[in-house]
Amino acid sequence: MTTEPLIVNAIINGEKIQTEKKIERENPAHPEEIVGYAPNNTREETKRAIDAAYNAFKSWAWSDVDDRITRMKNAIQKIKEATPEIAELLSREHGKALYDAQGEIAISLMWMEFACDHVKKVIEPELKEHENGKTIITHDPIGVVSAITPWNYPISLSTIKIAPALLTGNTMVLKPSPLAPLAVSRVTEIISDEFPPGVLNLVNGDAEVGVELTSNEKVAKIAFTGGTKTAKHIMKAASETIKKMTLELGGNDAAIVLDDFDVNDERALRRMVISNFLTAGQICMIAKRVYVHRSIYEAFVEKYIEAANKWIRIGDPFNPEVTVGPVNNKNQVQYVKSLIEDAESKGAKVIKLGKVLDAKLMDNGYFLQPTLVLGADPHDPIVVEEQFGPTVPILPFDDEEQVIELQNESIYGLTSSVWGEEEHAVKVARRIEAGTTMINTAAVQGLDVRFPFGGVKQSGVGREYGEDGIKSYTETHVINLPNNLELPYIPE
Ligand code: NAD
Repeated sequence: MTTEPLIVNAIINGEKIQTEKKIERENPAHPEEIVGYAPNNTREETKRAIDAAYNAFKSWAWSDVDDRITRMKNAIQKIKEATPEIAELLSREHGKALYDAQGEIAISLMWMEFACDHVKKVIEPELKEHENGKTIITHDPIGVVSAITPWNYPISLSTIKIAPALLTGNTMVLKPSPLAPLAVSRVTEIISDEFPPGVLNLVNGDAEVGVELTSNEKVAKIAFTGGTKTAKHIMKAASETIKKMTLELGGNDAAIVLDDFDVNDERALRRMVISNFLTAGQICMIAKRVYVHRSIYEAFVEKYIEAANKWIRIGDPFNPEVTVGPVNNKNQVQYVKSLIEDAESKGAKVIKLGKVLDAKLMDNGYFLQPTLVLGADPHDPIVVEEQFGPTVPILPFDDEEQVIELQNESIYGLTSSVWGEEEHAVKVARRIEAGTTMINTAAVQGLDVRFPFGGVKQSGVGREYGEDGIKSYTETHVINLPNNLELPYIPE
């Protein structure tokens, strides 16, 4: 394992560049260790990257789709070969356990392959012959795409945008989060090297770079994943030039456990625990509040604690026994702690879960032992806010109308899950306001890149993944060829 800090590049028009000012990224498990540095790009450099993408678009838009697929497949092959090194880097800069980092890369590759296999079908021109003549409908690239991504799944949430955008003939400037910029920069460089200069550019930085990317008039589309608050700034910045947008935002996903859920089903309980604590709870689509029918509430809590204590092992992300690593950054630790303390001060019971494998590490790194919160009020911040960390409230409910209302009164609607007898669960699922609802599973365990993913309400606009996620990088162009060129209602 390399411990020398890594220096990654920005990429502007195919050129690898460094800046004097750098973003320093520490290891959340051992904050004294600097994992690497990324360039801290300026607004001027960001403008140059947008100009490069704008100029490259002129020919890239008309390039041959088979050539684009070949280039993307070459990149996929190179990422596969580099996976061990990239997964290690991701784990060290992010804090997620090594198996989790490998899983993120595997999902990214699965999606990139899906996009290669389906792009031709999505952009195939349609010819309609009808009584008034003929119509050709084409699905054309949009232009320069600004992609802005968060720290929690930096590689998969960047490749989810890069693959469909480039394959459909767009060009891109990507800006990852300064809280996990290294591994995604490596992946972006591998992909960019396979494409002509200017097609895929990479800049690093925070809000200042983000503002340029979302307001510059040469940008035609914004593909953003991140917090709902940031998205509100982005919508304002983009409104001057009416940009197209895909927004994948926050969530407060509920898991509803019905009265016919089998509390003795150990595998289902393990899936529930994973859907609460994978990546230390820092996933947009993790189950962040659990409602259990009162008739099974006590038995469920008892069995849940047993399952959680078996699966959760906290420690260094490189320890193969570890399932839950540290939180990514100090601010997030403070925020999650404040939600737990608030609930506790109002009388909720907080139960620590799992086994700590290295107590010394816990005091030094950004660790937070996973907790279960019982007895919170349904409207306490720990229940209604997105915690984005290793804690989960479990609450009892008495009737299904009540729990559906609690689920739907949220400003969010990303994913959700219903646990119980299948037909019954689907009936409840139909009433839920969310982009995805999973039955007897939740979070990434129930994710399928072949189908559209996205949120309703303040969880987002548009869809990624699936054929919809490819089509969202195209504009529909209609070419009409009427057979009667004289218009009957216009006088000679
Ligand atoms: P964030 O909104 O703080 O940052 C996201 C990105 O936006 C970063 O790259 C950041 O540098 C950039 N940014 C910040 N200010 C900006 C501005 N004014 N203009 C343009 N860009 C700006 O989010 P985060 O803390 O990195 O990620 C966590 C959030 O992301 C959570 O709310 C989570 O639910 C959400 N998320 C959603 C999905 C999804 O698919 N719906 C997936 C993962 C994460």
